[in-house]
Amino acid sequence: MNQLPIFLHINDRDCLVVGGGPVAARKIEMLMRYGARVTVVAPQVGARVAGWAGEGRLRLLNRGFEPVDLEACDLVYAATSDAAVNERISRLAQARRIPVNVVDNPALCSFVMPSIIDRDPVQVAVSTGGASPVLARLLRTRLETLIPASYGRLAQLMARFRAAARARFPESTQRRRFWEQVLHGPVAEMLFAGQDHAAERALEAALANADEHPPVTGEVYLVGGGPGDPDLLTFRALRLMQQADVIVYDRLVAEPVLALTRKDAQRIYVGKERSQHTVPQEEINALLARLARDGHRVLRLKGGDPFIFGRGGEEIETLSAEGIPFQVVPGITAAAGCASYAGIPLTHRDFAQSCVFVTGHLKDGGMDLNWQALVQPRQTIAIYMGVHGVEPLCEGLIAHGMRQDMPAALIERGTMPQQRVLIGTLATMPGIVKAGEVQPPSLLIVGEVVRLHEKLAWFA
Ligand code: SAH
Repeated sequence: MNQLPIFLHINDRDCLVVGGGPVAARKIEMLMRYGARVTVVAPQVGARVAGWAGEGRLRLLNRGFEPVDLEACDLVYAATSDAAVNERISRLAQARRIPVNVVDNPALCSFVMPSIIDRDPVQVAVSTGGASPVLARLLRTRLETLIPASYGRLAQLMARFRAAARARFPESTQRRRFWEQVLHGPVAEMLFAGQDHAAERALEAALANADEHPPVTGEVYLVGGGPGDPDLLTFRALRLMQQADVIVYDRLVAEPVLALTRKDAQRIYVGKERSQHTVPQEEINALLARLARDGHRVLRLKGGDPFIFGRGGEEIETLSAEGIPFQVVPGITAAAGCASYAGIPLTHRDFAQSCVFVTGHLKDGGMDLNWQALVQPRQTIAIYMGVHGVEPLCEGLIAHGMRQDMPAALIERGTMPQQRVLIGTLATMPGIVKAGEVQPPSLLIVGEVVRLHEKLAWFA
């Protein structure tokens, strides 16, 4: 370990960049972003550098490097294509004790550039000590996924209240505990959910009430867990899954997705098998509210997207009526997941300009659908919960004017390793479903786009 990581104040400092090509432009852009005063020395420059010079954002000297350029300079980048020039700049700069970076030549650098995760004002810098820039980039990508984009705004909010918190809690342990509660509680969550004003008010209130025991407020995260492949979760879903202390889930949530929730969280299964709702919807609504009132951070985890045939709306209506904080995290809905993983574009310029999502759920043995709207030309139909009623569905579409040989696909356990795609037509699909002993969950797609499956299928 022979490199000391530091963060340098560069605002209004004089920085020299020698070179004017694309590589130099990247360095210049970064320096300008951090508020440096940039001088560029290069006999010729590319369009970007010329543009910045024209806008007066940097000083351009159209000539080769001269040692005098290093006078009154706080930092130097050598980014010319001439190795000898780069080496000379490095030698002269180091003799003058000016930090110097020669692009892609660690041996000539007195400082190296880390990989940066930028959540202004929060910054994380990664270095592998020159061992492997590729590894540094990989680490950066990992960290990018771990640190929500909104951490910057969180840091700004905390900075605004720093003096007030210091006055309120002169003792550092108390102060630290206060901030920890802020970071792990509703204030941070409100901010991450884009409710900046609510977060600010909650922080004010927390600071004002800090003496008494503040009332414990729980919250509910209504999260879409996607169709099955855990890689399809959103960053926010994953973060909340690892933070909630109670998880309320149903059958549609795939096991590998559930496995990513916090290990020590309490898990409550609320069923929802077809025609046999293990826990009635009203009880689920009430359960969520009660758990949150008891101070829990409750994850209501749903398959696919919570607002698409997921009754998510009903569940948060109860919460909203009771004034319980909640947020909704979208998930990839089954139609999108199954279509992608089966190589069936839901829309396509040649085949379909629209796509409708319908439920094929049987009600009292029948199907209450707007058939006329469904049989429109150049339209794809994605049918959720349609396997049981596949026969009346296909017959209904044909009876209302759709061609018997309209292509149809059934995607069983879409996006999961066991995914199966059965292809047929409206006329043959009921037989295919019966013969194939189709397992839930399965989705039907009807429309000309199904033809593309043959060419575009990629997921085995
Ligand atoms: N909210 C969910 C849908 C719930 S309705 C979403 O947005 O996806 C349940 C229906 O979704 C199932 O009957 C099935 O038709 C469909 N479905 C969900 N996950 C699926 C999967 N992995 N593969 C195929 N169909 C799926």
